[in-house]
Amino acid sequence: MTTDSQSIPAFSILGPPGCGKGTQAEFIKTELGFLHVSSGDIFRGALARGDENAIAAQDIMQRGELVPDEIIKKMVHDELQTILLASKDPQGVLLDGFPRTVGQAEMMDDLLSDLKLHFVGMLNLEVPESELVDRLLKRGQGVEKRPDDNEDVIRERMRVWREKTFPLEKYYQNHNQLYSIEGMGAPEEVFSLLKPIIIEKANLS
Ligand code: AMP
Repeated sequence: MTTDSQSIPAFSILGPPGCGKGTQAEFIKTELGFLHVSSGDIFRGALARGDENAIAAQDIMQRGELVPDEIIKKMVHDELQTILLASKDPQGVLLDGFPRTVGQAEMMDDLLSDLKLHFVGMLNLEVPESELVDRLLKRGQGVEKRPDDNEDVIRERMRVWREKTFPLEKYYQNHNQLYSIEGMGAPEEVFSLLKPIIIEKANLS
């Protein structure tokens, strides 16, 4: 892992579907000058552009399952490369939705060091599951509607999260890189808990 002063700190944000990751990512971007890279947005963007790999994996996404690690890894790498080239002195990078499996976590260090980034830690938003289905169903009725926000698919996304993504908590705990915070409060309150952790762990002034 590259940790020289030239390399840019990277965090990822973890939490079940509907926990408010996207909102916190926006705060981290606007308040702390981070680049925000969401694998779900990258995938939806690729689909909208008619990218072959995305189209081939479209059914998987619409069922609420995870697209293969190699496909998402390449998409995240290419997007990161593009936005790093286009941006001037970002304070850091926030990955959102990636890694989503232990397999992706294991391939992430190589991906990041290739781009002169170093992984600092996983920001873990803790929100009780009972809250989440409701929040997602509300999103499904609103303007932010996504094709995977109907109840059956939401339940499937929760199941997949528990089975494939939740183990990342233990994985990063074992690596001393897990920073958990209570994610239930108002977005500003949650950000006020996250901000000092990011500043301290990334050595930002
Ligand atoms: P999201 O917007 O993060 O909820 O992602 C929406 C969908 O895109 C997921 O349900 C997956 O089908 C796919 N996806 C996004 N990120 C990943 C990832 N890191 N690994 C596998 N599939 C992903």
